[in-house]
Order: sequence, then C-alpha cells, then structure tokens
Amino acid sequence: MTDITVPPIDEQKIEEALVAGQRHDAARAREVLDRASEMKGLSSGDVAVLMGLSDPDLLGELFAAARKVKEEIYGRRIVLFAPLYISNMCRNECLYCAFRARNTAVKRRALTQEEIAHETKLLVEQGHKRVLLVAGESYPHEGFSYVIKSIETIYATRSGNGEIRRVNANVAPLTLDEFKELKAARIGTYQLFQETYHRGTYAKVHLGGVKRDYDWRVSAMDRAMEAGIDDVGIGVLFGLCDWRFEILAMMQHIRHLEKRFGVGPHTISVPRLEPAVGSDMASQPPQPVSDIDFRKIVAILRLAVPYTGIIMSTRESANIRRETFALGVSQISGGSRTNPGGYTEGEKEDGGQFCLGDHRPLDEVIRDVASLGYIPSFCTGCYRLGRTGRDFMDLAKPGDIKHHCDPNALSTFVEYLMDYGSPETRAVGEECIAKTLAGMDDKARALSQKMIEKVRSGKRDVFC
Ligand code: SAM
Ligand code: SF4
Repeated sequence: MTDITVPPIDEQKIEEALVAGQRHDAARAREVLDRASEMKGLSSGDVAVLMGLSDPDLLGELFAAARKVKEEIYGRRIVLFAPLYISNMCRNECLYCAFRARNTAVKRRALTQEEIAHETKLLVEQGHKRVLLVAGESYPHEGFSYVIKSIETIYATRSGNGEIRRVNANVAPLTLDEFKELKAARIGTYQLFQETYHRGTYAKVHLGGVKRDYDWRVSAMDRAMEAGIDDVGIGVLFGLCDWRFEILAMMQHIRHLEKRFGVGPHTISVPRLEPAVGSDMASQPPQPVSDIDFRKIVAILRLAVPYTGIIMSTRESANIRRETFALGVSQISGGSRTNPGGYTEGEKEDGGQFCLGDHRPLDEVIRDVASLGYIPSFCTGCYRLGRTGRDFMDLAKPGDIKHHCDPNALSTFVEYLMDYGSPETRAVGEECIAKTLAGMDDKARALSQKMIEKVRSGKRDVFC
C-alpha cells in the first residue's frame, strides 16, 4: 500500500478533556462564550465545557452566541443542493446502511449515463444548481472511471435556462491518483464522513469490505488535499458513539488539516442515524442523540469552527431543520431522493439508503426558508472564481465572505423565482428580497440591485 498520513486522533486526550469539561462553573462557561463571540474558534477544552452545559439559561446563551456568529460570518443566506445517488451497489458491510453488501432487501442498481443525464435534467428543472453525487463503494465494470464519467454527464446536461454549476461528491476514499482525476473532473467539494472516530466502535459497525480499514478512511482528506482538492467536507454519523467524543475527535482532525495544509474543512455535515431497510442498528442507534443535544452540536460547531459551512440534510424533519438555520447551518438539501433513479421514478423503499425526515418538494422548502427571513441561495460563485480552500477561508475568517454571499444569494434567488418558482413562492420570495435589500448598507444594496436587474432583464448566472 502507498504511504498514508494518518491524522492523530488521541483517544486518551479526548477522554481527559471530557472529564475536565464536566468540572466547570457558570463563570467559566460564560468566559468561553465571550471568547467564542470573537469568532476565532475554540480549543478542545473550551468545546468540552460547552458540551457539558445543561442549565437552561446557559444553553440559551450558547444558542444566542451561535446565532450571532452565524449571522456575522454567513449573513442570512442558506445554500441549496440536491444529492444524486448514481448507484446503491456496495461491497462493504456497514451495519447501519441499507446499501450494505449482504442486505437482500434492497434492489441493486447502477444508473447508466443516460439515466444520470435524465435525473440531472429533472433536478435542473426543479431549479437546482448544485448536486452532491453519491454512490456505494462498488462501481460497475469500468471501475472508478464510472464516477468521473458521471460527473462529466452531470456538467454536460442542460435544460431550458438551467444547468448544474457545481458537482460535489461523496464517494469512498480514493488513492492519490484517483483524487487527482476527481480534481481534473472539476469537482467542487470532496465529502466523506468518518462515521465514528472511535476505533473500537468503528470496528464493531464495519464488518466487511475495504471500509473496515479505519486508517484508510481517516487519511482520505490528507490525500484529497495532497491531490489539490482544497474544499473538503467532513462529518460524523451521529448515533454510533458518544457525540461528545466525536466532536472532540473531529476537532483533532480539523486542527491536523489546518496545521498540515493551512486550511481546514470547507464544510461539516451532521447526519444522524435514520431508519434504513434491512438494518436493525439504524432503527436502534447504539448512542442516540436527542433533539436538544443535536441543537447543541450545531451551535458548538458554529462557535468552534466559525468559518466552516454546516450542512443539514433531509434526514432531519422540517422543524429541526428550521431551528438549526439560526444556530449555524449554512447549506441544506431540498426535495431529495436517496434511491438511484429516485427523481425519475419517485421514492422507493427497496432502493433508498435511509428514510427521509423531510419529504417536501424544493419549491416548498424554498418558500419556507424565505418566509423565515433567510435568503435561499443557488450561488456557485466562489468555486468558479477560484475562491476555494485558503482563499475562501481568508475571506470567511474576518466575516468578509458575506459581502459576496448576500448579493450572489439574491441574484440566484431571483433567477430561481423567475425560472422555477410557483406563484406562492414568488410572492413570498419577492417580499424576502425587498426586506433583505432594505436592511443592507448602501454599497451592498447598490451591488445587489445591479446584479438583480441583470437577471430580471434576462441574463443568467450573474455572480461576483
Ligand atoms: N459509500 C460511501 C461511504 O460510505 O463513504 C459514500 C456514500 S454513503 C452512501 C453516504 C453516507 O450516508 C455515509 O457516509 C453515512 O454516514 C450515511 N448513512 C449511511 N447509513 C445511514 C443511515 N441509516 N442514516 C443516516 N445516514 C446514513
Ligand atoms: Fe456502502 Fe457507504 Fe452504505 Fe457503507 S455507508 S454500506 S460503504 S454505501
């Protein structure tokens, strides 16, 4: 095997920090929250203190601090994307997943390039501009080039005024050379979840296939970054192990990437274990995360790594999704299907990866987001202007990224409303746009109005 760099996840240090974090008082918690509002991130010791909070007043202060940091750095935009499952074939045996190799309750299928083009067309016709390509870990006869071809197919598909402008991918860990191919295919973010950073738990839930190798998985982001992919997305599958352990381990992973590459992850995902056909574990998570702890997770991550996007998928219900917008979430999926072919044929129990918590179509999700005062964004500007990796972080850290995000969110939202919005969503959306413009400073308003005007007069894909 080629040499790999395994990020040091020090379990003993994590356990010590967890014990120390329990011995805090209100004064120490408030001191951490004050430091958090400086938006420079937090140490593991600080994070452990926040994880131990249960007093309702202090929890209220934690959520308020997260809200403030979220608005300061990201403004009020929420970026939309859709997953595109190209295959549910898999040779691994992850006990929590419906796609695991020995599960006979799922009908296996790898979409052809024609089918992928058709799924893409349907997503474009809903108004999507960003796709997250997802696959099990077993490709048809052409091997990994199946993924590369699929990315090309997605980028090449057009319908009416629309096209997919950014393809992100969540596929199994790759070799350095494969990551280079992925980069050459114009990947946006490479996303991969460690599932659990706890080695003992990892061994218990991954019973077969290459995925059993913890080190190969935890070292994947190092290889992706070595290959020049500087936007990477990490995550934990919450419910497998103690969430407090996972957060501190994730912090160690992040600090390792920052130290080695000068930049941390572009996004963090917070999937919670959902029921899945043919998986007992998915219905009875070994260490379930309550709704209140889930909100704490989002708020603490927002404060600990303020510059990193937080992704909330349709695994969660509409209510939980709404609540977490304010606490730090910056990207959400909408109108998702987890069965290959799902946009063409509808949701199918015997083909999907897990059960969805939010079944609403994209238009309804957009209307809801706008009615809450957030700007639904289809922006892909940063990636296409090369503002990725360190360049993105240099803008995000001082809170400057929102000067691009807000105008871009507004211009892409207007594009959505004109080309795809229902009359009800258009009405709610126009009100949201007017309010947002009214609340902007003169410079941002002038720039946004100029961009919006271009879209209203027929230009598409307007960004700064
Ligand atoms: N097969 C690749 C892998 O495992 O890395 C990539 C895609 S996998 C389909 C995407 C993610 O779905 C996994 O990393 C896992 O965290 C998540 N997942 C699997 N089963 C799940 C379940 N029952 N509930 C929620 N998320 C689940
Ligand atoms: Fe396969 Fe990924 Fe599901 Fe594991 S999580 S069974 S690797 S698709």
